[in-house]
Amino acid sequence: PLTGSTAEKHDAFIHIQSSNHSELRVIERFTGSQLIQGEPDASSFPSGGMRSTFEARGYTAWDPTSPLFIFEGEGSRTLCIPTVFFGYHGEALDHKTPLLRSNSAVNEKACEFLKLLGDVDVKTVTSTLGAEQEYFLIDRRFAALRPDIIMTGRTLLGAPPPRGQQLEDHYFGSIPTRVQNFMEESEKELYRLGIPVKTRHNEVAPSQFEIAPIFENASISADHNTLTMETLKRIANKQGLFCLLHEKPFAGLNGSGKHCNWSMSNDKGENLLEPGKTPHQNLRFLAVLAVILRAVNDHADMLRVGIASPGNDHRLGANEAPPAIISVFLGSLLSDIVHNIETGKKMGESVETKMINLGVSTIPDISRDYTDRNRTSPFAFTGNKFEFRAVGSSANISQPVSILNAAVADSFAKSTKQLSAMLAKTSKRDEAVMDFVKEVFVETKRIQFEGDNYSQEWRDEAKKRGLPILSNTAEAMQVYKSPAATQFLVEQKVLTEAELVSRFHISLERFIKTLQIEIATLDEITTTYVIPAIEKQLAISQAILKDATTSGLKAQYKTRVTDLEEVLGSILSTLGEVHTVVEKTNAIHDEFEKTQRIQSEIVPLRDTLRKACDKAETLVSDELWPLPKYREMLFTHQIS
Ligand code: ADP
Ligand code: MG
Repeated sequence: PLTGSTAEKHDAFIHIQSSNHSELRVIERFTGSQLIQGEPDASSFPSGGMRSTFEARGYTAWDPTSPLFIFEGEGSRTLCIPTVFFGYHGEALDHKTPLLRSNSAVNEKACEFLKLLGDVDVKTVTSTLGAEQEYFLIDRRFAALRPDIIMTGRTLLGAPPPRGQQLEDHYFGSIPTRVQNFMEESEKELYRLGIPVKTRHNEVAPSQFEIAPIFENASISADHNTLTMETLKRIANKQGLFCLLHEKPFAGLNGSGKHCNWSMSNDKGENLLEPGKTPHQNLRFLAVLAVILRAVNDHADMLRVGIASPGNDHRLGANEAPPAIISVFLGSLLSDIVHNIETGKKMGESVETKMINLGVSTIPDISRDYTDRNRTSPFAFTGNKFEFRAVGSSANISQPVSILNAAVADSFAKSTKQLSAMLAKTSKRDEAVMDFVKEVFVETKRIQFEGDNYSQEWRDEAKKRGLPILSNTAEAMQVYKSPAATQFLVEQKVLTEAELVSRFHISLERFIKTLQIEIATLDEITTTYVIPAIEKQLAISQAILKDATTSGLKAQYKTRVTDLEEVLGSILSTLGEVHTVVEKTNAIHDEFEKTQRIQSEIVPLRDTLRKACDKAETLVSDELWPLPKYREMLFTHQIS
């Protein structure tokens, strides 16, 4: 459903049969029609205004492209049927239907284009996807004592421990035994569900890890990623651990992303982004590359919308993940080639690799080893695929990937038109294709960036280039209001107008509710945990000050009492402001307006309140501090 996570409804095979003479018998029966269609109540799922509770009908239909699987519980087995979910009038109430539609769009538009290149026998093209899932793991007992983790999936306060990730000793470090056990059981479980996981390692932050699968067809991969997230949580729970999939569970440490490795394959299993061995394969590679550059160039704003969430707002642009500005990284060899094609230079002038002379134009032999890495780019070419690095760890990848697919389909369509016109004027196909590639490379210059995406220079440069700079979810939501930005989704038949509007409302709603839950939780923790702890400490310190006999101690305790009073005062006054602003924003009816106000008024207050609480944590006795600290959550389970 549009919650972003999975949903399940279980039916037993039980059936009551009346045989002769009204004798009732219970049998177990399973019919084909049960497999194909179901009808759960849809009214309690988000629909973004597409339906009201009195039109509750919703249907599930088997997605036969996604394999059935058997889930083994403690005492039973459940046959699971992956389904799409839609309403009475055929409106998609899920993220999967648009993803399937986007794959059809890619298929249709890519085949048309490839035929122009001379791939006359191409039958199908599908998008492929492999999502690297990052996550944190802490002891479940700590999580249970943190209302913020339980309510919001992240810590809303917590002073930085003396040691965080500055020693850079966690990335690819040795995996603690307890975590290794967790990984092994999760992987076995995932294999049983048919999910081809392959890689596991420690990530940058303490207690942060990653699991990555072998890539699959995009829609299966998206199903498998949701199942992977569920499985990680379930097995963690079983082993006394707690798995955090939030983009920013701990301030001051790296957050979690979900790099979506994305490409396209034809029906022969050839990767369209694999630089080939033959001139034709290389020509195709360059043409497809041009199409993708155009897709990102034309739809950078909507691609940004696809990764927008309150959780990802903490990550994007925070010097640990790509900035919120979408650009493409090609790598030095490829950008040299692009540059040479653009400027009409002969290959080999700056690129010292084997060249293949095609007679009319030169097409280089591109080896995947020649592309380097750029961890700062939101959309990086990594040798034979793109890595959409800006996707958040908790995201349902169907959404960003269906937008990406739709953008690529739209670009294929435009490119087919352009190239057809060029081919009509000449009989030299390869030359025309190279001219096409050149035109697109020049046209999409503004989206190409090879430098450090974290730097201020890039932000300034991006502004000069006129790239969309949408720093947070509230800003990104404006894009939905521009028909020019969203229309390709309707044209490529990925979303209907009504579905598009519903996605807009759901995004706003999720933002508003997430922030409301966060601020209410922080309010509660501050009022019922933090303030009483400061009060106790203050009473102790005041008593010592009162009884102090030496002037030295008196002076010290004066300062101590003042520090505590100041922090308490600032917490109380910020809380007062929070209450006023929350009340004001609650009264706003327009959801878009509400989103903007929450971003501009509640978010800064939330951060101020947190800062004061974190200060208090450093002043109050450990004995009196009622919440598990970062030090305890992040480091202790690694040694137990
Ligand atoms: P690296 O990023 O270190 O080069 P891999 O080549 O193993 O690592 O790829 C990382 C992820 O990219 C894996 O999940 C892998 O399955 C996926 N991947 C590889 N090739 C493709 C492809 N053609 N399409 C989509 N994903 C791919
Ligand atoms: Mg990684």
